[in-house]
Amino acid sequence: MRSEELFEESKKYLVGGVNSPVRAMKPYPFFTERGEGCRLYDADGRSYIDYCLAYGPLILGHAYPKVAEAVKAQIEHGSAYGTPTELELNFAKKVMEAVPSAEMVRFVNTGTEATMGAIRLARGYTGKNKIIKFEGAFHGAHDYVLVKAGSGATTHGMPTSAGVPEDTTKNTIIVPFNDESAVENALKDEDTAGIILEPIMGNAGCIMPKDGYLKFLREATADKDVLLIFDEVITGFRLAYGGAQEHYNVAPDITTLGKILGGGLPIGAIAASREIMENMAPLGKVYQAGTFNGNPISMAAGLAAITELEDGRVYKKVNALGERMRRGLEEVATDLGIEARVYGIASMFQMYLTGEDVVDYQTALKADKDLFLSFQQELLKRGVFFPPSQYECNFISYAHGEEEAEKTLEAAEDALRGL
Ligand SMILES: *Cc1c(COP(=O)(O)O)cnc(C)c1O
Repeated sequence: MRSEELFEESKKYLVGGVNSPVRAMKPYPFFTERGEGCRLYDADGRSYIDYCLAYGPLILGHAYPKVAEAVKAQIEHGSAYGTPTELELNFAKKVMEAVPSAEMVRFVNTGTEATMGAIRLARGYTGKNKIIKFEGAFHGAHDYVLVKAGSGATTHGMPTSAGVPEDTTKNTIIVPFNDESAVENALKDEDTAGIILEPIMGNAGCIMPKDGYLKFLREATADKDVLLIFDEVITGFRLAYGGAQEHYNVAPDITTLGKILGGGLPIGAIAASREIMENMAPLGKVYQAGTFNGNPISMAAGLAAITELEDGRVYKKVNALGERMRRGLEEVATDLGIEARVYGIASMFQMYLTGEDVVDYQTALKADKDLFLSFQQELLKRGVFFPPSQYECNFISYAHGEEEAEKTLEAAEDALRGL
């Protein structure tokens, strides 16, 4: 197999043969040659219906024509300037119309930079140090948040990374998700600057907030000079045009965005009220900077992508397919007598192979992650690509259709039957 050969060769030059740990599939990952619509095509001429979608960004699918055209048009005029552009102004206006709680934005390059900047901003604004983070939540790969982190950190058995000084993480307070008293207790510490969360935990599978939990967090922080940070890197422009904050009608103080926002190109964003944002340099004393911040290619791709999302037709389609996948997977598992829990919302879903409800990280860890990997491998053989971990989320794009949903559910039934 060509992918296997490429992987053997890659292992000599790239750590573990990959550039990001989640990609290290066993026995070897397939190497992609191209993506088109809802499919990936690999070096061995096989194709896969893609539910990974680059781990979230591609809500329009691969190589969406209007995004591709916007990128081509922009690159002809240069790829980085080191000066402001009208393009980033137009994009900022559009993003600020979409995100209910925000008035100003700083565009950065990744979700990681966005949460790092947001936490620094919360600390700078409040003059306090501690940040409450939920167990199993993933906010990127920087020192403030690599404590009991989900995604590849959990998959590869290092939720708390080596090389992160205790001095850094002593200010990161970990509490279980969906637990009210744990948050109330943590908030007793008057040095708390903020709470950061994924409104839906999309990096430990797909864990839903229980009814009223986001509102509880809003109320618990409102009168305490503690900022509520929604990390909407996954949920932004995914759950709805205005993200989870629109869907649940809860306004955070700071929002981080990424993934879908860039239309498939690298991007991140920190957004908040004018009062909070003006604490950032050059106006304020919280420093944040980047050579590629507001990169014109990412701006052009992002603008083209969210313009497609504005009228809601994309959400109508992907959300209906999401419902279909969640119900279908549940039915398949029930019919086969397999203990499973299926969770999700809109175009996000994950199936946990467990007989117990999953409400937080600890209950997620009880799922049979090895059995899940076998399931994932069997799906791959049948031309369906789920991310290779129980602790990731599946996504649906506008390019997916009824036919693919049906094929996927058939493949899932076949794969589960053989486990
Ligand atoms: C992916 C992700 C990040 C990190 O974004 P990168 O662009 O990979 O740095 C941060 N937060 C959440 C919720 C994510 O899913």
